[in-house]
Amino acid sequence: MIPSPRMIARSVLPALMLTAPAAQAQTEAETARFDQLVARFQTATIVGVPSIADCILSGGTKSLCFKITTVAAPSDHITGPFCPRTISDTAEQGGTWFVDGKVRDVDGAFIANLAEIYGDDAWQMYDPETGEIYRRGEEIGCIVAGDPHNETGQPDNICVDCELGYIGTTVTQTYFIPLTPVAATDISGRIGPDSGIGLAFNGVKFDAPAPMDLILGGHTLGPFDDCTGHINPHTGYHYHGVTDGCGARISADVDGHADMIGVAMDGFDIYARLGADGAEPDDLDACRGHDADGLGYHYHVNAAAENQVIGCFTGQTGCSTGDPDAICDASARRGPPRP
Ligand SMILES: [Zn+2]
Ligand SMILES: [Zn+2]
Repeated sequence: MIPSPRMIARSVLPALMLTAPAAQAQTEAETARFDQLVARFQTATIVGVPSIADCILSGGTKSLCFKITTVAAPSDHITGPFCPRTISDTAEQGGTWFVDGKVRDVDGAFIANLAEIYGDDAWQMYDPETGEIYRRGEEIGCIVAGDPHNETGQPDNICVDCELGYIGTTVTQTYFIPLTPVAATDISGRIGPDSGIGLAFNGVKFDAPAPMDLILGGHTLGPFDDCTGHINPHTGYHYHGVTDGCGARISADVDGHADMIGVAMDGFDIYARLGADGAEPDDLDACRGHDADGLGYHYHVNAAAENQVIGCFTGQTGCSTGDPDAICDASARRGPPRP
């Protein structure tokens, strides 16, 4: 239920004038990286063709980026369900939620026990007479999912349910990811509320942490599905965690190492959390990266319930945007934190 607060208004200028010419001055290494990324994202639902574009990274560095536009829906697994309908619904009829560092099933009993789970009697998300859960679904569910800041009559105690069928098929995300990572400055390595964390090989965004305090403060829930993803009309379907069995994986070039699952917004590769031995690497830095195993510097994701796919960015980030015609200046967006 992360909104996309950075709504870039579409320009009234013809699209042709906004499209940067294909950047030409790449090195052999950059060309090779571009070709590698094109191959890795071949299973995503891509709009147009990936290209090399000029970009300004979060620390102000002018660079060349891998530019790709994907349909904001997974190419390789179903989405939902999210909200159960009654307090007797099973785990199969609902989604998941993060509570105290664990991924919990949002079944009927979970909704019935919210006051106890959160120690707050103001939780009452179902009709005590009928057991029916107070849910906002269909179009209105997506409107609320896209704007939890909306204070215009949004009632307390609702389960927000935005299904893929209600956001249309035109929601896309466009990513500018540096072909050559550039070291972050302090601020340019932070994960902001309006920056994605990366892109999974199935075309789905690894999004910034879900604003749990904001959601829970209004006694609302925006449940994830069993892949710890959910939908809003700005970002489409997006992940807040990485769950086994969800999304394409590519075997690492090193035996026993965790599989590769996507690329981060600073251009480093993202791998699953655990290697073949069932353990996570013991030398990860604060961003959850390490330079090991003959794979170059790369990240390993957090446990899903941490609500933070990686810890921070080692490199300067590019851009993700809902506007396929936007140009990328990631340094321009670094204002004060949003409320
Ligand atoms: Zn979200
Ligand atoms: Zn590793």
